[in-house]
Order: sequence, then structure tokens, then C-alpha cells
Amino acid sequence: MSHSLSDRHVAVVGAGIAGLTAAYRLQQAGVRVTVFDAQPVVGGRMGDRREGDLVFNSGARLVYPFGQAFNRLVEELSLGDALVPLHRLSAQCIAPGGAHTIELMPSPRSLATPGLAAGERLRLVTHALSMRRLKPRVDPDWATSALDADPRLDRITLAEYIRETLGPNVLARMVEPVFRATRSFNPETLSALFYASTVPHMIGETTVHTLKGGMGRVCHALAAQLTVRTSTPVRTIRRGAVGDGVELTLANGERVHADYAVCAVEGSLAKALVEAPTSAERTMLDAVRYNALGVVHYGFALPLPPKMNFAMRGQPGRIATYQQLPAAPASGRPLNQIYCQLTPEAADEAVRRGLENELDVLVREELRARIPDFDRHVVAVANQWIPRKLPVFSPGYGARVANFWAWQEDRRQGGASAIVYCGDWLSQALLTGACASGERAAKTLVARMQSAVTRVSA
Ligand SMILES: Cc1cc2nc3c(=O)[nH]c(=O)nc-3n(C[C@H](O)[C@H](O)[C@H](O)COP(=O)(O)OP(=O)(O)OC[C@H]3O[C@@H](n4cnc5c(N)ncnc54)[C@H](O)[C@@H]3O)c2cc1C
Repeated sequence: MSHSLSDRHVAVVGAGIAGLTAAYRLQQAGVRVTVFDAQPVVGGRMGDRREGDLVFNSGARLVYPFGQAFNRLVEELSLGDALVPLHRLSAQCIAPGGAHTIELMPSPRSLATPGLAAGERLRLVTHALSMRRLKPRVDPDWATSALDADPRLDRITLAEYIRETLGPNVLARMVEPVFRATRSFNPETLSALFYASTVPHMIGETTVHTLKGGMGRVCHALAAQLTVRTSTPVRTIRRGAVGDGVELTLANGERVHADYAVCAVEGSLAKALVEAPTSAERTMLDAVRYNALGVVHYGFALPLPPKMNFAMRGQPGRIATYQQLPAAPASGRPLNQIYCQLTPEAADEAVRRGLENELDVLVREELRARIPDFDRHVVAVANQWIPRKLPVFSPGYGARVANFWAWQEDRRQGGASAIVYCGDWLSQALLTGACASGERAAKTLVARMQSAVTRVSA
């Protein structure tokens, strides 16, 4: 540990998994760190919420086996034993002519998906082999790693890629329902980067995990080792002249001076936060978009068997994911719960009709048709609107991200600035991506500090 690094003070804005990881790694390098978050609890989109007796996640629900940065962190925090395996997680996909099974982690059983042409089944096999070959060349924590394998993956949409590589029925019956139900994305809005950097690492894996005690545990374990100020929104980050550090203005008017800042808020909020952004920052921040998500959680008096349904696009209705979760008081869920996630189109409709806080209005009729006497058995309702669910890696976005990191890491360019950015919008729209971006931001900043120290002592 360098003594001079311990004289440095870094302000981290945002206590999601990216900001907390950055803070933790900086502290490990010997730097003094203070973390600020607008919310009363840490974790951002990785946390646990409770409304009355209804419990749900603020965001992430699953830990994928391929996440290197995140899984490393879990082990380091001695939380490995808290990972609860879910083997062969699958859903019934509601489609014309009946439901079919979709496995969250693709396996040879996916070949049995009904409605595929013989040629498409054959192409699935050759595709699995080519994905296996791609595995050593792509980093599942880093979407832009697939750019090196094939820059075209950033230029075409996921829909075009799957249609060309595997066929239209694979898109409609296998890929699209998963992207709509788990990520609230339509495949024509995304590039193929996310798919190509993660799927090679899914083949052969059959197990995903949840966390015993709630998804927020990892963030709480990190925060317990750090100085964190919650309920402290930061209004602006102002950069002084090189070497003069940064000044944060908090919503309560207080000013905080630090040598450097890590901006770990959602990318679309960073633009309003950082005063006088450079043109490289503006180019990046102008491009960040998120999709929105609406979920309605119901408490239900009748016992419900576990069930998960995805809906194929074009099916009537506004529900993309329907899940029944039986009560499990010992695990902190006192009620039987129903989870209803809106389709991307219904989320747009909610915005258009100003129903973000009354999503129940959009789905209740559908639930009445599904469950007899639905209204009589509902004992609680919670409306969850997430205006920024996931950053949209639209075509061309990956190249911007890669350029931005090159700028951040170039000693003469972004390297001369006192602000470093991280978050899932700069890596991969998953926990492990956010975590990896926090690690990389910390590394970038330590390199900047070390080069500043060398300049001073030279
Ligand atoms: C519904 C949903 C389901 C998901 N499912 C999964 C999943 O199953 N598996 C998976 O791996 N990933 C999943 N994800 C993605 C994952 O949750 C995110 O990629 C990850 O949590 C993002 O972390 P982050 O630190 O980049 O951002 P965030 O968690 O959004 O953190 C940003 C923080 O900045 C704070 N902030 C914002 N503005 C200010 C301000 N002005 N001052 C101070 N603080 C501020 C916010 O309060 C927040 O805490 C899901 C996400 C959502 C929303």
C-alpha cells in the first residue's frame, strides 16, 4: 500500500453494487473513501423491498454462474454459503396452440421446443458449437468484449442476428420471450453484444442462484466496511482545475471536497450531476437510455402452487411474466404472492396514460380471467414502477462504451480528470457487469493517483 494514496479522499456517488465495489476496492488500495446515496438504503437495483406483508426485489433476482467479478466478491465477503441454487430454472411460455417449456439456461432439451423447422433445430446445434468456440474470446462481465470477436455484433440488432443465424421461429419461441420476460427488452431494440458475450458462458451451465436473506445482502456487507451516507442526494459534482479535486454539492446545501469522485449513478442521471462535462463525457452521457419496467405484486389468501409463465409476443394481454410464489414465512415471505411484470408495450402504455402508480388497472382484468374470484382472494397490492430498469445497449452503443473507457484510461485525456464513471451502463446490464465496472473504475483511479503522485515527486 502506498502511503501517499492514504492521503487521498475519494467521494463515490451512488451506493449500488458498482459504486460500492469501486469504494471497496479503493479502500483496499489504501484510499480514504466516502460513499453517498440518495436513498435511505444502499444497493440501488440490488436490494429488498417490503410493503406491508409483501416482499420483493428492488431489481435483480438471480445470480448467474458465469459472473466473474460478482461471484469473486461474494466469495471474498464469505457469502458463498448464502447462494441458494435453482437447478434447471424454466418457465412455461404461453404461445398460440399451447404452452411450451423455456429453460433459462439453454440445454439440449431446448431442441424439443415445438414449432421450430427442422433446419432451425440443426442450426441450433451448430450455433451451440460456435458459441462454445467463442467462449474463451468473450468476457461475460463485459458486453463490449464481443466487439473484438466480431464488430458487426454491435451494429445489428439481436432480432436480426437471431433471425439470420437461427431462424424466425427460434427468435419468436425461444429468444424473444426470455428477453421480454426477464429483461423487458424487445430484441429489435438491442444489439447482439449482450447475447454474444453471455450465451457462450451459459452453455453447459444448469444452475442459477438467489441469495438467502435477500439480494441486498452483498451491498449491506460491503457498506458495513465503508463510510456511507445514505439519504444524501448529491446535486452536483464540480471539477476544479487539474489537481484541485472535486466539490460535491449535496441536496441539503452542504459542500464536500474530495480529491477525486467516482460517479456511479445510473448513466442517464449522471448528465445532470456533473457540471461542465467534457465533450467525451457528453458524447457518452447523451447516448445512455434505459427501459422502464412495471410490476404488480399481489398478496393472495388462497394457497398457490409455484408457477412461472412467459408470454410469447403477440399473445393478447399486458403481462410478460406471471409468477406464483407460495408463502414461505421462514424465508421472510409471509404471504402467497403473485408477480405480474408488464410487457414492454404495456409499460409504454402506462407512461402514455399516466398509470405508473396504478399498474394494477392494466392487469387486473387479465388476472380475473385467469383465476376465478380473483378479487375476493387479494389481500394486498404493491405497485412497482422502475423508470430506469436496464441500460439499452442499442446498435452502436458498444463502440461508444469502448471509446469512453479508452478515454477514461488514457493518461493524457480522461486520465487528467478528477472524475471516473462506472455502472452497468458502462459494462454489462447485469450485477456482475456493474461489479466489474466498479472494479475497473477503482483500478483506473488508483493508476491516476499513482501517476499524479509520481508527477509531484519528480
Ligand atoms: C427489475 C430488475 C431485474 C434485474 N434482474 C437481474 C438479475 O436477475 N440478475 C442480474 O445479474 N442483474 C439483474 N438486473 C440488473 C442489475 O440489478 C443491475 O445491473 C445492477 O444492480 C446495477 O448496479 P449499478 O450500481 O450500476 O446501478 P444502481 O443499482 O442503479 O445504483 C445507482 C445508485 O445511485 C444512486 N443515485 C442516483 N442518483 C443519485 C444522486 N444524485 N445522489 C446520490 N445517489 C444517487 C441510486 O440511489 C442508486 O443506489 C436487474 C435489474 C432490474 C431493475
